[in-house]
Amino acid sequence: MTRLQRRVATSTVRVIDNNSEEIRRDPLTGVISIHPDQRNKPFPVVRRTLPDPGGHCVFCGLAAAPVSDTNDIQNGDDVSHLQRDSPHSFVIANRWSPFGPAGGADLVIARRHVTDFETLSPDESEDVLTALLEGRARHRPAFRRTLAFVNVGLEVNGTQPHLHGQIVSTNVDATAPVAMTMTANSLDEDVALAHHHGLVLNDSSRSVTYVAWAPTTTGEVRVIAQDPKGFAEALHTAITDLVDVYGPLAYNIVLLDGPRLVAQLLPRFTAVGVLPPYFGMAVVMIPPSDVADALAHR
Ligand SMILES: [Zn+2]
Repeated sequence: MTRLQRRVATSTVRVIDNNSEEIRRDPLTGVISIHPDQRNKPFPVVRRTLPDPGGHCVFCGLAAAPVSDTNDIQNGDDVSHLQRDSPHSFVIANRWSPFGPAGGADLVIARRHVTDFETLSPDESEDVLTALLEGRARHRPAFRRTLAFVNVGLEVNGTQPHLHGQIVSTNVDATAPVAMTMTANSLDEDVALAHHHGLVLNDSSRSVTYVAWAPTTTGEVRVIAQDPKGFAEALHTAITDLVDVYGPLAYNIVLLDGPRLVAQLLPRFTAVGVLPPYFGMAVVMIPPSDVADALAHR
């Protein structure tokens, strides 16, 4: 073996093996994260810039509009189909599909005008998450790929200053969002890694909250829960803590597919990228242990 061959072989083994502190493979998503030593260096936080509705909020208009016997919402000239109705949220079918008419796209809208998830009450959080989970289950038989998420902040595609989630689905592979499917084993491995590295913030019979050892974005927090109530409580606490420590940053909540309720909470510490880098690589600006320490000691 020449010196060059040896070098190539060594570097390949290192990436595949990736048990180093610098290069880590996420057991859940397969994303490789790179961890340059950023300790004690200043880092940017992307504050959420919300558009000004100018006294007219589209979603408040929908919430107040009359509903027909056939569950259609007549809002001026606009007709929307009411897919699901509950005390704290409502779901509009087939609106804003990124994949055109062939795709599925439901909007889950909080009834109350709030801009972010952490301002919702526990009951409201649970209701919004339940609507997202039910919507995802409704889409599954009809589509190959389904992704359910909430974006808070214009910087992460939250284009309305009124909290809402989306369930988007498509049968077209090439342009599909990658819905991550986890196994119980990959989930256990991820939690074990977090425990081993001291990144677990809460571990109870109802939910587990931890900073990801191999995050998809800097500061990613993961929440696993048994039921929607525990899911909502744990997510609500995690976001409130993040905002307390780092200020009102923009963030995404992405629901992962798998044997349990799992969410990625993706705070936005850098302006690089608009959506989570599901193309396979992430550069992590703040060590996960620093984020876990900051959240644990608030
Ligand atoms: Zn509103």
